[in-house]
Amino acid sequence: MQHGKCELCHLMRDLHDSHYLPAGGYRRARAANLKNPNPIILSNGKAKQSSNQVRDYKFCTECEKRFNVGGESWVLSKVPAQYGKPFEIHTLLNTATPTFVRKGFLIFPGATVPEIDLAKLVYFGISMFWRATLDWSPVDGGTPPKLFMNIRQKEGVRQFLLGNGPLPKDMVITVAVWPFKKVYLMNFVPSRVEGAYRQYRFHFSGFIFVLSFGKKLPAELKRTCAYRSKVLTINSKLGESVKQELASQLETADKRRIQGTLQEIAAIRAKSASSSQN
Ligand SMILES: [Zn+2]
Repeated sequence: MQHGKCELCHLMRDLHDSHYLPAGGYRRARAANLKNPNPIILSNGKAKQSSNQVRDYKFCTECEKRFNVGGESWVLSKVPAQYGKPFEIHTLLNTATPTFVRKGFLIFPGATVPEIDLAKLVYFGISMFWRATLDWSPVDGGTPPKLFMNIRQKEGVRQFLLGNGPLPKDMVITVAVWPFKKVYLMNFVPSRVEGAYRQYRFHFSGFIFVLSFGKKLPAELKRTCAYRSKVLTINSKLGESVKQELASQLETADKRRIQGTLQEIAAIRAKSASSSQN
């Protein structure tokens, strides 16, 4: 503990040594059957294992609890505990009826899958994007990519996270479910997506969160907003792009540090694939 100003509620409090990625996520994503079960996070394009977690004295007990109750604990309870285990969200969506289907792009209204708590997903996603706007101490000389929000947006999001107001109108948060059968139990920090408007995204053990900014965002994008349109999406094009990014970033990673883990994951996957065919 360290005394200081909590970055969420702005009160002077005892602060926790807070993790950028939820600590529970590290525990959960430690697939129990991996010898070195640390997940991989990205920092300045380098994949690292969580022995060097990004952390800092940031939030008070009450705000840590807010993050936890607001979204983290629900999201973590839905993430597969081990590689090869089924993803509960896939099972739920398999029996749900999308209201829109076009070439690998599906929209599911939250109301049709009441077991999926969209509000918790939105809160979790927004809290991660907001954390990315904060300063974090470097780890191994690398810091997480920084997300830009203007002062009004940043304050609006802070008030939203405190439960004091809606999300700013010029933001769209899309929550997409991993479109492929096998889920990567890897959690990444938000990074910028090149395009016509300001956009960031991150992958968290089977969920893809995308945050887009702008007053003139395309109507098609607005339709995918988990907050205002209250929908969940499956988008194979987005999934493919995230998968490629994941692969290319792992390609440029410090291989010596993650090679063992990657081989173990591949072996477990091969094993679970052959057993599911039997
Ligand atoms: Zn606080």
